[in-house]
Amino acid sequence: MTTFEVLNPATEEVVRSVELTSAEETDAAIARAQAAFPAWRAVAPGDRARLLRRFADAVDADIENLARLEVANSGHTIGNARWEAGNVRDVLTYYSASPERLSGKQIPVPGGVNLTFHEPLGVVGVIVPWNFPMPIAGWGFAPALAAGNTVVLKPAELTPLTAIRLGELAREAGIPEDVFQVLPGKGSVVGQRFVDHPAVRKVVFTGSTEVGKRIMAGCAAQVKRVTLELGGKNANIVFADADLEKAAATAPYGVFDNAGQDCCARSLILVQASVYEKFMELLEPAVNGVVVGDPRLEMTEMGPLISAGHHAKVSSYVDDSAPVAFRGSAPHGPGYWFPPTVVTPPDLRHPLAADEIFGPVVAVVPFDGEADAVTMANHTEYGLSGSIWTRDVGRAFRVARGVEAGNLSVNSHSSVRYWTPFGGFKQSGLGRELGPDAVDAFTEIKNVFISTED
Ligand code: NAP
Ligand code: MG
Repeated sequence: MTTFEVLNPATEEVVRSVELTSAEETDAAIARAQAAFPAWRAVAPGDRARLLRRFADAVDADIENLARLEVANSGHTIGNARWEAGNVRDVLTYYSASPERLSGKQIPVPGGVNLTFHEPLGVVGVIVPWNFPMPIAGWGFAPALAAGNTVVLKPAELTPLTAIRLGELAREAGIPEDVFQVLPGKGSVVGQRFVDHPAVRKVVFTGSTEVGKRIMAGCAAQVKRVTLELGGKNANIVFADADLEKAAATAPYGVFDNAGQDCCARSLILVQASVYEKFMELLEPAVNGVVVGDPRLEMTEMGPLISAGHHAKVSSYVDDSAPVAFRGSAPHGPGYWFPPTVVTPPDLRHPLAADEIFGPVVAVVPFDGEADAVTMANHTEYGLSGSIWTRDVGRAFRVARGVEAGNLSVNSHSSVRYWTPFGGFKQSGLGRELGPDAVDAFTEIKNVFISTED
């Protein structure tokens, strides 16, 4: 049995040792999930709904514990971690309303009756990255369970603690053990078995575009269903007619939240050239105002990066030759700290403007007119989120329709509400999570014709 030492990224101390699931153990867990499927899909809709609400209640009663686990494991600020645990509760509650509402259609046909059914798929494998361990797990397992599937879930090797706890809470709530199993381990072992094992009928993957492409190719061998939530290089477009003070004051939080380790981070700020100087003057104090430090403290707004390896990757973008405009502060000493950093690359081909750095680094680039702004926002292969700052309603709609991304916000940086759909255009993903239709993605539509002829 191999184990993994989970480190606290704010202190580099060992939090706990976690046993890694082997390929054989993964196969055994998938077999148990497959065996548990017929009974779980047969649970009466109202009873399945009640079990999910009990699961939500168990999460609610454990919010503070889950949040503290996440602070220790992931370095998330305590405020964010509470929100994340609450999001799991809310997503469970939202999809607990689905079992009784998974209605099909009756479609008029001659000579009989035609009905459609939403059938569950079977075993669903959920693969979760390290940046939002709780919410991303819940976005997969809650609608999957609601639709009558059984679930095997692999947290990221670096951040398994809250997922393990969620598995315990599910059992406490009465969800049968084999209906929802959490399997800590390596992507190349556990995740790969989800892709390769024929009993897993769908893979829900959130992570890098690079690994996502390999998952999709692997799933193709069995025409396995797949949902992909991948990377982003998201534009925050600031027009000259915007509330510049508000745009500048909020821009740091649109990118530096979770230390920039957010697929929706607005890491490319496009500013209309006529207000570029003014915007930069307003942005500097806003960046200096971001409180970076001990994530356990209520006042902290940004914690450390997740690991030494990730710190090295982010640091490689900001060497001595990088066009740094200004930087905020970060603690010294142990922990994977990186200060909020604003850079001004010369064009969009520069790696600082083109790559998803996944750290607290934001590039600011000027544009001339509305058409340029849209072209520049669409320059990337990604298409996940973005923001548009303007007081012109027509322009807000034109630009929102023109930007090729799944989640846009006007005069705000919000991306995620559990009752609205979330997902990416282009290489940011495939399919949508959350919102009213997510359960459908965990079902197959079956069409049945019944002859009424005698
Ligand atoms: P990653 O390296 O792609 O890993 C994501 C998950 O996939 C981890 O659990 C990983 O396991 C697993 N994995 C790795 N190789 C695998 C394989 N061959 N087969 C099956 N599973 C495998 O991504 P990350 O570095 O953890 O996360 C950062 C990325 O996630 C960023 O690009 C970010 O944009 C993206 N992201 C996207 C969204 C979205 O909703 N669009 C949300 C959050 C994050 P181990 O690492 O444990 O080995
Ligand atoms: Mg990785």
